[in-house]
Amino acid sequence: MANSNTQLIKPQAFRRGLDLGSIHPVAAQPIEEMPAPKRIYVSLKQHRGGWCMSDVSVGDQVKMGQILAEGADPDTAPIYAPVSGKVIAVGDHPDSTSGRMTPTVTIENDEADEWLNEPVTDAAFLDKNPTDLIRAVRSAGVVQSAGGRPLASMLSPSGHPQAYYFLVGKPVHKPVDLLIINALDHEPTIAVNRRLLQEKYDDLKIGIKVVEKIVAHKQSVLAVSDDIGIDAEAVRALSGEGIQTVVFHNRYPLAAPPLLTTAVTGKELPWPGGDPQDVGALVLTVEDILGILDAVREGRPRIDRVVTVRGPDIPPRNLKVRIGTTIEEVLKFVNASFDGTDKVVVGGVMDGVAQFSLHAPITKLSRAIHVISAKHLVEIAEDLCFKCGRCVEVCPMRLLPNVIGNLCEFGQFDEAEDAELFKCIECGCCAYVCPARRPLIHYFKHGKSELEAKRTAQ
Ligand code: SF4
Ligand code: SF4
Repeated sequence: MANSNTQLIKPQAFRRGLDLGSIHPVAAQPIEEMPAPKRIYVSLKQHRGGWCMSDVSVGDQVKMGQILAEGADPDTAPIYAPVSGKVIAVGDHPDSTSGRMTPTVTIENDEADEWLNEPVTDAAFLDKNPTDLIRAVRSAGVVQSAGGRPLASMLSPSGHPQAYYFLVGKPVHKPVDLLIINALDHEPTIAVNRRLLQEKYDDLKIGIKVVEKIVAHKQSVLAVSDDIGIDAEAVRALSGEGIQTVVFHNRYPLAAPPLLTTAVTGKELPWPGGDPQDVGALVLTVEDILGILDAVREGRPRIDRVVTVRGPDIPPRNLKVRIGTTIEEVLKFVNASFDGTDKVVVGGVMDGVAQFSLHAPITKLSRAIHVISAKHLVEIAEDLCFKCGRCVEVCPMRLLPNVIGNLCEFGQFDEAEDAELFKCIECGCCAYVCPARRPLIHYFKHGKSELEAKRTAQ
């Protein structure tokens, strides 16, 4: 590990947002492997950025780890077959991430799990140069779990060799001094990073070395929640490698990279459009780093992911699920019983996507499935804002959600932009506390899409 430089770390308490509790029984549930179902639906939109175009047609036989779709844009991540079998459809299908109909490849699983190129450990993977390591990450199709960016586009070598310029199509001028290893989960009812930290910390140590080899950062810091704490075996093992630990009470939405960066470094990010790398930090979750390691050590593409599943009648589970498994199959596997009035949300309870079809599949971005009983649903109202100010108190981005909401509601989108609409991270804290039950997130999303459509038309 590079020399420690404690000046890079100035932890601050995070007081805004919401206290949803840190401890939840799901964090004690080990990760279990769910068998691949008979039919797999692979969405062709599984990251932020450009589209991937299908490389396969109906009737093709595919092997596990074969490319199904890819894009020429460097900000895309190829999509691989999670099972071997026969392509039986290429066309629109419900998508759990966007909540829309999305081009999808459907595969009839032959249950042979026959790899195109079986992942094999490369004993010399740490001897590769940074550009080759980035190339391996890009070709494995690994994407950032917190924001959906293809991970390869976030990893720039400190020296920016010419080869890197050709690899990503643009120079990157943001050197990384500090790697923030995000072991917090987005909400306490999700336990993906906490479980991976506890079960895979030996691999995590190697993955951190890979990231260090690529970006040549000066220091690594592990951000953990207080329900894990500094005495956990995994945390002690990492501190033995010179990795400093910062323990947070995980107020929602602290795990969001911009907020975590400020909480760890004490530095504010420039907004709008600010990025942790603007202040010399790279935030990667435990899941991201393990995905990078799989890519460079074994050439293993992203074909599965860990998903927390919970609901009123479901004992909480953490499952390793093949990408493309439908929500319906996952709920069947955990013996979930629910009726048509319950809501199924993919992602967090606070900012996840309510599903219009249980046939929508798990994607690289699906960290959780929450079933919410009809009796716990809060109805949205169109009541007028009575200026109580609660939304302003909780907003982690220090915005005026009441003002921006009013402007978007009445079509004053340019004024909403002036009031920093694009700084909103759509965390949902304002809507959660609003006693008038105003659909604030709906207003913000609508305002942003109107402004983006206007820009595209210009
Ligand atoms: S305005 Fe945006 S960032 Fe602020 S609380 Fe509401 S959703 Fe979150
Ligand atoms: S919490 Fe609701 S009612 Fe209160 S100021 Fe904000 S938008 Fe208005």
